[in-house]
Amino acid sequence: MRILKNISLFLTVVFIIGSLGYTFWIRDRYVVPILTYHHVGIPSGKWRLNTVSEKSFDYQMNFMKRHGFEVISFDDLVEGIKKGHEFSRNTVVIQFDDGYEDNYKYAFPILKKYGFPAIIFLISDKVGKPDFLTWDQVKEMEKYNILAGAHTRHHAYLPRLNLTQAQDEIAGSKKIIEDNLGHSIDYFCYPSGGFTVDVKRLVKDAGYKAAVTTNRGKDRWNVDLYELKRIHMSNTDDQYSGLILWFKLSGYYNLFRHFKHGGGLHQRPTYE
Ligand SMILES: [Zn+2]
Repeated sequence: MRILKNISLFLTVVFIIGSLGYTFWIRDRYVVPILTYHHVGIPSGKWRLNTVSEKSFDYQMNFMKRHGFEVISFDDLVEGIKKGHEFSRNTVVIQFDDGYEDNYKYAFPILKKYGFPAIIFLISDKVGKPDFLTWDQVKEMEKYNILAGAHTRHHAYLPRLNLTQAQDEIAGSKKIIEDNLGHSIDYFCYPSGGFTVDVKRLVKDAGYKAAVTTNRGKDRWNVDLYELKRIHMSNTDDQYSGLILWFKLSGYYNLFRHFKHGGGLHQRPTYE
């Protein structure tokens, strides 16, 4: 009996020390989740994996509202990181890639309903083309704190371009969007998350204040403002009573994703 008692005492102590150590270790690895959406509407065809249905999008936004998540603007995120601000653990940023027209049709009314800010990274030369947002739609959304960022002129994979071409995509898209919206465009999104040291420098030189990538940044904790990592949101995130969604919103999702894939540094994402 005495031995059993000693063993259980030993195991309890090990458990407590282990839990405390784990808690401190994990606490430092919290990252404000930047949720990435592409299409919102009817998932079908080749866009199926990049589309969140209107119903699922509403569920996801409602989930955040119900559980007291604080959706902050991309601006507040960047300013907070710059100042070394410790964000509360229920902070979230919402972001859209490419600037599809369905963002206006389906996502905008839902974001308005919940009063959530967001940022949409536009492919400047696609604005006004079929399936993409028009400048008027972008302007209307900006009144509701759904702001524009830049995502190159033609959605080019930047590491493949020479520096002159890359600069045209990076600085060119900034100028085109600024000319049409009449205010400065401060944030950039690398197509497919692809960047190199040179590409990153061009983004800084163009005057952007921050840039987002995918899970490949070597700086894992979103300290480098030009390698902010994001979380791909999907139509099935509301399954299992919101458990996946909860995990994605936790601020620790990328941490485990990184371990699972054994390093995301040079990984090519399936989509983005
Ligand atoms: Zn994109």
